[in-house]
Amino acid sequence: MTIILDGKKLRDKLLDGLKLKIDKLDKKPSLAVILVGEDAASKIYVNNKKKMAEKIGINSQIINYPSDIKEDKLLEKIEELNADDSVNAILVQLPLPKHIDKFKIINAISPLKDVDGFTSENSGKLFSGQKPYAYPCTPKGILLLLDEYGINPEGKHVVVIGRSNIVGKPLAVMMLNRNATVTVCHSKTKNLAEITKTADILISAVGEKVIEDSSMMKVDSIMVDVGIFKDENGKTRGDVNFDEISKVTSYISPVPGGVGPMTIASLMINTFELFELQNKRSSGT
Ligand code: NAD
Repeated sequence: MTIILDGKKLRDKLLDGLKLKIDKLDKKPSLAVILVGEDAASKIYVNNKKKMAEKIGINSQIINYPSDIKEDKLLEKIEELNADDSVNAILVQLPLPKHIDKFKIINAISPLKDVDGFTSENSGKLFSGQKPYAYPCTPKGILLLLDEYGINPEGKHVVVIGRSNIVGKPLAVMMLNRNATVTVCHSKTKNLAEITKTADILISAVGEKVIEDSSMMKVDSIMVDVGIFKDENGKTRGDVNFDEISKVTSYISPVPGGVGPMTIASLMINTFELFELQNKRSSGT
């Protein structure tokens, strides 16, 4: 029988522990989230992050801008937040409107406050095997989830479907750094099923129905579903046909309740770790 990789349960456990630590602090960690435009999904994500931060004692603020905001104005705000000692972590909610250069905006964030780990300095550190100030939240959450269930990627064939800068690419590198043998697949991959069938750990981060049939799976393999979207009936689902695929896996993450909660847990952990790092630096220890 397959075991469910329960992200909700682990999120609660990790954040309960974090809350206890934060409760003991006089000065609380603080997170600033910049949201540009009116995208409904982004608004929900940002509000969920704020709610969770408040629940565990992290101060948080959402800074809203209309979608026609000028790039310079955003850069100015980021500079202000970088210089503000009461802000420990900065997140710019993606996607940004087309007229804004997202790389310029992300790289304006001080790497020490880059809670998503997306700046070139932090991703460069990650890619060269150094420790970034923060690891990207979704890949970090996936590794925490696998660790919780005693699943060690070392020596395993890990197949990652999706090559985005926020999930697929950093995850592939983090898996390599954990001594996995990694294959990355994407929209132009020709023989997807041939490759997925050889995966010990299969991780899908696409946002479409990708893994529908159990013939795509190695028996007793581990399936991590990152994707989340609404199907033709408006039902929230992942990339994986859960009922079908869970018949052949040893472990599988559900949607919702798998990777999503772990992403938010990682964001909170990253905020706390940046807070600690900045305090250490300012006290010279
Ligand atoms: P993206 O849209 O930036 O990238 C999608 C990737 O999928 C691309 O690399 C593309 O090459 C690949 N792809 C597209 N069609 C494919 C196909 N038919 N076969 C194989 N590969 C294909 O996506 P993203 O931002 O990485 O997000 C991916 C999914 O994960 C989305 O559903 C998103 O909502 C979800 N997501 C969930 C969380 C979470 O916390 N649960 C976090 C981030 C993203």
